[in-house]
Amino acid sequence: MSIADNIKRIKAQIPDNVSLVAVSKTKSNEEIMEAYHTGQRVFGENKVQEMTQKWSDLPKDIEWHMIGHVQRNKVKYMAPYVALIHGVDSLKLLREINKQAQKENRQIACLLQMHIAEEDTKFGFDEKELKALLDSSELQDLEHVRIAGLMGMATFTDNTAQIQKEFRLLKSMYETTKKVLPGVSQLSMGMSGDYNIAIEEGSTMIRIGSSIFGARNTT
Ligand SMILES: *Cc1c(COP(=O)(O)O)cnc(C)c1O
Repeated sequence: MSIADNIKRIKAQIPDNVSLVAVSKTKSNEEIMEAYHTGQRVFGENKVQEMTQKWSDLPKDIEWHMIGHVQRNKVKYMAPYVALIHGVDSLKLLREINKQAQKENRQIACLLQMHIAEEDTKFGFDEKELKALLDSSELQDLEHVRIAGLMGMATFTDNTAQIQKEFRLLKSMYETTKKVLPGVSQLSMGMSGDYNIAIEEGSTMIRIGSSIFGARNTT
């Protein structure tokens, strides 16, 4: 199957209220353009430098999403153009995004990354930390960031019940967040291996890499 066929097949499967982020990390400009020509405009990357290079090379109507772990010293490079930062996992990082967005005279949309998986290698806030953040007055002071929703990754496992349980937890934290923060409307959950479960559990945004572009070179 070609990249174009894969995108069309996935788009035909997902409901209208779920958006598709085509995860293009490690993939070439030519491969991204093949997806672009099907009408796909939202692409996800996990390295700031690689994303910035692609942003400068490729059409300017592409929306670039940062889906990976973000180091604070890299925020400035994407602040001029990034459309959504999915992996915000600390207040310190939010403050840095706010500072860089202010310099660019813009507001940057962010998702709070929640730790829902069993593996402790995955980043994110836990439920208690989320509640503390929502209760603190500091969020309102960050005028150049807009919290658009939550993001999370389930455990990498074949156990459907476990993935379902983790996505349900994320959905419930999303509902809590929505009540506190106006403007929260995005729940980024689901990847190639689990997006069907994620959609059943209320995802509004899926991040698909290998099912579109094929396996990634890991070197
Ligand atoms: C790489 C990546 C994806 C896409 O993974 P696939 O399994 O290839 O679909 C989604 N989300 C995040 C955070 C990633 O790093």
